[in-house]
Amino acid sequence: MVEADSAARALNILGDRWTLMIIALAFNGVRRFDDFQGRISIARSLLTDRLRRLEDVGIFRRHRYCEHPPRDEYRLTEMGRDLYGAALMIIRWEKRWFYDRRIPAHRIKHKGCGKTFTPECRCKACGELVYARDCYAIPGPGAGEDPAQKPRAHRRSIVEPASPSDAMMQRSAEVLGDRWTAHVIASAFLGRRRFTEFQQALGVAPNILTDRLTRLVELGVLSQRLYQEKPARWEYRLTQEGLDLFPLVLELVRWGDRWLAGAKGPPKIIRHRLCGKVLKTTFTCDQCNEPVSAQDTRL
Ligand SMILES: [Zn+2]
Ligand SMILES: [Zn+2]
Repeated sequence: MVEADSAARALNILGDRWTLMIIALAFNGVRRFDDFQGRISIARSLLTDRLRRLEDVGIFRRHRYCEHPPRDEYRLTEMGRDLYGAALMIIRWEKRWFYDRRIPAHRIKHKGCGKTFTPECRCKACGELVYARDCYAIPGPGAGEDPAQKPRAHRRSIVEPASPSDAMMQRSAEVLGDRWTAHVIASAFLGRRRFTEFQQALGVAPNILTDRLTRLVELGVLSQRLYQEKPARWEYRLTQEGLDLFPLVLELVRWGDRWLAGAKGPPKIIRHRLCGKVLKTTFTCDQCNEPVSAQDTRL
């Protein structure tokens, strides 16, 4: 068993690079099987599997648009559209650390002010920008344990987009698009640092954990520090780049609380030290400081 956590629950669904890329395409208006396949070079069987999985969890709804031959398209449900904030926070992080003007999502525009912008995450109550150091979590009504995740058969794989312009989420997919790397990061935000702490929290095999920690150090999200010489023991801390994933993790918590917590309610409540209130976030445009939503942005 592992500690119940909404970000972890969300990542059990989303922590797969194909899934992330499929959802990003859906926000770009892609609905049909062949169009998904044309935009990312994914095997038909894998695409079928991921679309079916997303339909099962309630992110997509299938709609038959042609009877002969039978053809379906995949539309985002309300639960799916509610991931828009997470998409905004992915764009925020990518733009801040790996800006690439060739990627259309990095040129996202705010219709309100007409400018290209970087989304920001603010506390709804006090209006301040949200940072990890200003927030803390306390147990919520749904606190408890969840079953540990079973390992999946497939291994970490590198995905190549069909064209550089579809490279949005490439970086985020490296970090979040693998269930274990994603869980390691969520766990690091809960204060875990040592190998054994990660292992206990995630119920993951040591060789997989070693592989993912090494990868996250290579990606610059975690830094590694020797805390004991004999035998050599390492601890892992979020770097500035890693800490900057906090708004995204928060958004996954919010989404998980809303759609996956069930009747028991949220496993954790996050409070904002600066104003003392339970943290509710809002996304704003860094150019005009006005709130942004799916309706007034163009991906
Ligand atoms: Zn606040
Ligand atoms: Zn604006």
